Order: sequence, then C-alpha cells, then structure tokens
Amino acid sequence: MNDYLTFNEFLEFNKIVESVTYENGSMFVTFKEELFEDVSALDLYRGVDSKTKTRQKPIKYDLEAVSDDGVATFKTTSGTKRDGNFHYTQKIRFKGWDENMADKGSLLDKVKLILHDGVDVTCDCPAFQYYGSAYITTQLDAKFGEDENRAPVIRNPDEKGTVCKHLSRILKDFAILPPKIVKQIKKNKK
Ligand SMILES: [Zn+2]
Repeated sequence: MNDYLTFNEFLEFNKIVESVTYENGSMFVTFKEELFEDVSALDLYRGVDSKTKTRQKPIKYDLEAVSDDGVATFKTTSGTKRDGNFHYTQKIRFKGWDENMADKGSLLDKVKLILHDGVDVTCDCPAFQYYGSAYITTQLDAKFGEDENRAPVIRNPDEKGTVCKHLSRILKDFAILPPKIVKQIKKNKK
C-alpha cells in the first residue's frame, strides 16, 4: 500500500479534517464537526464487528429505568460468566428526547421517533473501556459521559467495531424497545 495520499485524496482529506497532531508517536485527527450527523443506534449497530455479534448471543438484558431527560439504563448478563446475574450497566441517552417529547402525538409514537435520532452510549464493562469502544464512540460524538481520547493502540489498533457485545445486544433489539420505554416513562409518573 502507498504511504502517501494522491492529490485528490489530499483535497478530500482537507475537506473533512480540521487538524492533525502527533503526540508520543500517536496521530490525533480532529474532524470538522458540522459534517457529522448524529450517530443513531442503527448506525452503531451496523458498525459492530462480526465477532462481537457472535459473542452477544447469550447475553440477556433488562431495561431498568428511563430518566425524565431521556437516559435509559440497562443491565446485562456478562455473556461469559456462567451465572445468570446481571453484571454490567449500560446507559443510552436519546439526543432527540426533549424535542420529540414536546411534540403532539401518542407517547409510543414519540418514542418510536426518538429511536431514529442520535444516541450517546456507554457500558461499564472492561471491553468497552479498553478495547476501543470508548474511544471510537468519542470519535463518533456518541459517547455517554466523559470522552476517551486515548486510542486503543495495543488492544484494538485497527479500531474495529463500535460498541461492546452488551450494548450491541441491546441495540440489536432497538426496534422492539419502544413499548418497554413507554412502560418505564409511565412508571416515573406514578
Ligand atoms: Zn459492555
């Protein structure tokens, strides 16, 4: 493979890149923000690598809560430990929450629309933090909580995939989540 960009590639690159800096042998690229649309749950799921999709199969999840400002909290089994306990917590923030909730229509319809909007996600499992998900979702402007700007240079140098198997398992079911989310919202109002 050629190490250099052709002139046309260079022009394309300049259109999307704000700056490139080097630090301790790593390259940091900052992209021009306005070119990005919010990353949806479906976008994230499409980006999950095939190994993770295989590993997510035995995982069970539960929607624990939905906050008034649109953050859903899930719990999942680990997917590797044999006990069926819920080991990890995932947070998914719906970026279109306030805007859609202010609209007219049934709660279910509004929630269905929110699921097409952008999301911020996180999981407290080690894989999410150390195998690239935290960094990759930060790059996609889809990280819930603190940004992670250290690239996974050793554990996932090619920056494969998007999220860990726990989040992937949940994102796979996004289309069937709206009734569960509505149930949680109604529970909050009691
Ligand atoms: Zn996880």
